[in-house]
Parts: sequence; C-alpha cells; structure tokens
Amino acid sequence: MKETLSQKRARILQILSVFEEVYPDADCTLDFKNPLELLIATQLAAQCTDARVNQVTPRLFQKYPDVYAFAYADELELQEDIRSTGFFRNKARNIIGCCRMLIDEFEGEVPRSMEELLRLPGVGRKTANLVLGDCFDTPGIVVDTHATRLSNRMGFTTHKDPYKIELDLQKVVPQPRWAEFCHQLVNHGRAYCMARKPDCDNCPLNHLCPKKGV
Ligand code: SF4
Repeated sequence: MKETLSQKRARILQILSVFEEVYPDADCTLDFKNPLELLIATQLAAQCTDARVNQVTPRLFQKYPDVYAFAYADELELQEDIRSTGFFRNKARNIIGCCRMLIDEFEGEVPRSMEELLRLPGVGRKTANLVLGDCFDTPGIVVDTHATRLSNRMGFTTHKDPYKIELDLQKVVPQPRWAEFCHQLVNHGRAYCMARKPDCDNCPLNHLCPKKGV
C-alpha cells in the first residue's frame, strides 16, 4: 500500500531521531570562515570532492583574502590556482563574475536571500541553500549526490531532478531541521548508504527504509 504523506512525516521523525544519535555533530564538510569563503568553496566543489576543495582553499583564501581580490584577479592565474578542482576555466570565470556582482550590486557582501543568490554567476540552488543554511540561519535543503541517492532509496522521492527532490523533502522534513538533515544525509551516505554497495545489514535505519533502489 502506498505510504501517505503523514506516514512519511512520521517515518522521517524516527529517522531524524536516529540521525541525532548517530551523527549529532553533522556539519558542512567544506572548510570556510565566512559566507564568501563558503560561496567560493561550494562553487569549487562542483564535480569535485570536498576533501580536494579543502586542500586548495587554505592557500587560495590566503592569496585572495576578500571579494575585491577575487573580483580583480588575473583570470589565468586564478585558473591555475584552482586547476586541481576540475572545470577550472568555468569556475574561475564564474568566481570573478560572482565577486564583481557582489561589489557592484551588494556592497561587497554575500546576499541573504535565495532570489539574490541565484542571480550570482555560478550559483545554483544547491550553493544558495548551503550558504543560507550554514551562514544565515535560513535552513535550506541541499540536494547533492548523497541527498539524491538516499532520498530515493528511503522512499521520500522518485525524482532525479534536484529541485523536485528539494520540494519532496520540504514536504516531509520539519523546516528547522532542513540544513542539518542534509549534512546528516552526507554522513550517512558515506558511512552506510554508499552508491555501490550500501551496508543495509548494519545500517541503523534499516527498519525505517524500504531499501528502494538497492
Ligand atoms: S537500509 Fe540500505 S538503502 Fe536504506 S538507508 Fe540504510 S544503507 Fe541505505
């Protein structure tokens, strides 16, 4: 029998309490000290691992310490500085364009609304939700590869499109938990619910998961 919305909501509350026990300190896996650094680190993380980005950013943020340094960077030099994160030409162009727009239209500050964030070059809903949730206490649902895989397996969506998944998760996860839930999904995706061989036998959610997609 098809699970109703209220049954899904009840199930997710149980999942959240397991997550609370197993991943009490789940947090953003990108290193950053301010909203600008997270905005840039998230752009670098496209098609790249967070671990790799965290290797690149300490030197990067030392060399380009503020929005002006990025906005007026030499594009070829910036490309070299971020080359190891892949897609470095596009990323360098977007980072420079993004920082120029921050200066021209937002007084050099990272804006605090989804609408404004989405206007910045290289910024999509994933980046915007991450910045809103982790820097501005405005919880957002960050749909990355882990959220996509786990929410399908756990039966909270049947979509692959990130925005549709975001909407499905918004319906069942209590809003104050949105940001934390997504960090916990990342932890769970790495610990048990891996892409290739999920460890369902030992998974602490196996009594709450229909194991879809496995
Ligand atoms: S039971 Fe399996 S599919 Fe479900 S969350 Fe756990 S590891 Fe993933």
